[in-house]
Amino acid sequence: MSGIPNNNQANQNFKNTPVNPNGAILVWDLDKTLVANYFDMVTSIEEPIINTNALRTMNTAMKGNFSANMMLTNNGNLRFIQFVIFLMTKKYNEMFPDEQVAFLFSVIYTAAMNPGGTYKDPRVPDNTVPQSKNDPGYAAKRLEDVRNMCVEGEIPADNLAERVFFFDDLPNHIIRGEINHYIQIQPPFNTVDGDLTDYSPVLVFSERNKQRQRKTRRKNRNERRK
Ligand SMILES: [Mg+2]
Repeated sequence: MSGIPNNNQANQNFKNTPVNPNGAILVWDLDKTLVANYFDMVTSIEEPIINTNALRTMNTAMKGNFSANMMLTNNGNLRFIQFVIFLMTKKYNEMFPDEQVAFLFSVIYTAAMNPGGTYKDPRVPDNTVPQSKNDPGYAAKRLEDVRNMCVEGEIPADNLAERVFFFDDLPNHIIRGEINHYIQIQPPFNTVDGDLTDYSPVLVFSERNKQRQRKTRRKNRNERRK
């Protein structure tokens, strides 16, 4: 298991456009980060509350110095993930009607990967991973997982420590010590109004590097004129 069904289709779609090797890579957790209420689709008809601050952040990032938008979750409910992605894409296209994106995420992993190629998914037997959700080693997402996702999505993976923006409500994933921009969702996402998260690092990165690109282009143009 390396992702959700139809993920290949999404990847194929992204492969048509060359990926910027220096841009931001946004990596999102799902529960309590992109949506508030994890729910049981069998017994509940309540729709998930979607983090529209996150959608706005994606929109700004995509217009700047950008490489990829990805999801790394330990939620193993594929139907829930598919449903949330459907709702998020619909909401995004309502908020930004000029864009009409078909896929919001270029790579989606439903569980983190171990070096041996096994998954930290409770459905996949793997005795190196703590089985209890209360164990701090469970769901310990690493930069290595993001690197694997880049390989799958054919996303250039140089300088990941500077380019990865990792969004998660949990403060203690391994990747926190491996990258510059660990953006903790605070408090764990519940409502848009109650969201106190500082999303600005990715917005600053996008804008700063956009300006740098523009300057370089201008410089090249001026040099050509000499
Ligand atoms: Mg979470």
